[in-house]
Amino acid sequence: MSDIYATLQEIVGKDYVSNQAEERYFYGRDPGLMPPHEPDYVVMPRTTEEVQEIIRLANKEKVAVVPKGAGLSLTGLVIPQIGGIVMDMKRMEGIEVNEAGRYVIVEGGVTHAALKSHLQKNYPHLRHSIPDSPPIATIVANAVIHGQGRLTQQRGFNSDMVSGLEVVLPTGEVCRIGSCAVSSYWFSKGPPMPDLSGLFLGWFGTTGVITRLGMKLYPCKKMRDVMLYITDRAELIPDIIRKLSHTEMMEDIVVSCAPLPLRFKGVFNMLVYITGDSEEELEFKRKMAWDALREYFESRDGGFMGVSPYMKPSLLAMPSKDTTRFADVSKGGGFEYSGPIAPIEKYPQYVKKLEELASKYNLFYSSAARVIDGGHSMMFSFSYTFNRADPDTMNRAKTALDEAAEFALDEGGVIWKPNLNEQRMVMERMDPNTLKLLGKIKQLLDPNGIMNPGNWEAK
Ligand SMILES: Cc1cc2nc3c(=O)[nH]c(=O)nc-3n(C[C@H](O)[C@H](O)[C@H](O)COP(=O)(O)OP(=O)(O)OC[C@H]3O[C@@H](n4cnc5c(N)ncnc54)[C@H](O)[C@@H]3O)c2cc1C
Repeated sequence: MSDIYATLQEIVGKDYVSNQAEERYFYGRDPGLMPPHEPDYVVMPRTTEEVQEIIRLANKEKVAVVPKGAGLSLTGLVIPQIGGIVMDMKRMEGIEVNEAGRYVIVEGGVTHAALKSHLQKNYPHLRHSIPDSPPIATIVANAVIHGQGRLTQQRGFNSDMVSGLEVVLPTGEVCRIGSCAVSSYWFSKGPPMPDLSGLFLGWFGTTGVITRLGMKLYPCKKMRDVMLYITDRAELIPDIIRKLSHTEMMEDIVVSCAPLPLRFKGVFNMLVYITGDSEEELEFKRKMAWDALREYFESRDGGFMGVSPYMKPSLLAMPSKDTTRFADVSKGGGFEYSGPIAPIEKYPQYVKKLEELASKYNLFYSSAARVIDGGHSMMFSFSYTFNRADPDTMNRAKTALDEAAEFALDEGGVIWKPNLNEQRMVMERMDPNTLKLLGKIKQLLDPNGIMNPGNWEAK
């Protein structure tokens, strides 16, 4: 083991590798509910070549490697289940924009905050799809877990906006995926060739380390506004979403519910975002939204509420701070969510289950559902808070989330960023030939099973 430590020091320099108790403690856990497990080493590479050398070493010594962004996915995906090396990507922070081609190439540790400020400063007419995770979340890891952001309603998962990859394979070779494999331009992650990005996106680092990633950028309109639609009838939400997304004019649609403040209990809040280059464009889009929902206004089943100038800045913030604030609702500050990607028609059933589980396990709840890709599906969050100093609330929250995941699968959803137990649930339900294919791909790419062991392992 000490040979490994010395070699890691040679690769990255002695300031960027540690086997000290403090680092091992910190890198052995995440803010969610999964049990901790400490790594033997933490290493911070700066270049693709250093990543390559670390992986070659790990492959030769058969030591596990877990790539880590900000560790905010909450479901234990960066907890090293059998120890080994945690590879913290934060020193890889290069950003290169192709303005004419509307894409950016980011290194593996670039955060959403860093890209946002780079674009605001240098390319204010361009933007990327910002998720509501804390700003230190990384672009690469968010794409790896098929994250969703402000442009997901219009453009699909953030991973759908990827336009190329550079990956260090588990055996140490560097591989380019997409147009960048044959050209100096990073405009496509696959088409017109076979799309090999699917071998890396969604795999939680089990098939390689992404060292660079191309991400599409989109026009940043001069103005943004938010409308707040409310209804107390959950069964109407799918139709309301269908009518709004039919206009093809909304930037983002997020439906929330929570039992507090009391005036909102039993009420569904729908935040509908629009963008435009002029007040006229915004006004036209507002009118389209009003017209789309006129029927429910006339039947008095729902309506738009005024959004005061005091509320607007916080509703328009990117990322929104609301989810982060939710973590502090319970004493001891903890929350986790199971977020199935689900058919929109199931919204009423999901809400009923969310409330049932909260009452069964005496937990505080909230939910936000984000519409995906023009209304093809939604991410529905079952969010529960817990007190980190109270194992009883943590156990209750965990049991509720397990039940929510089973329910979501039974109702036709697929679990997003699943923890180990949820991955097992998904694989148990998977078509057996698909499961076999998953195993064959993993074996082919990672013959020694060194990459993020435990995840997506077909038993
Ligand atoms: C308050 C809050 C709000 C949130 N809101 C959203 C939201 O709106 N949208 C959303 O999508 N998510 C949201 N999340 C979930 C999560 O924080 C984000 O998806 C975040 O982008 C994950 O990035 P990360 O850097 O923390 O990933 P990590 O947790 O560090 O990593 C995630 C996975 O990617 C792998 N990985 C990391 N880097 C690499 C690499 N270079 N190569 C290969 N694999 C790699 C890791 O091994 C792990 O399996 C939220 C979380 C919180 C706490």
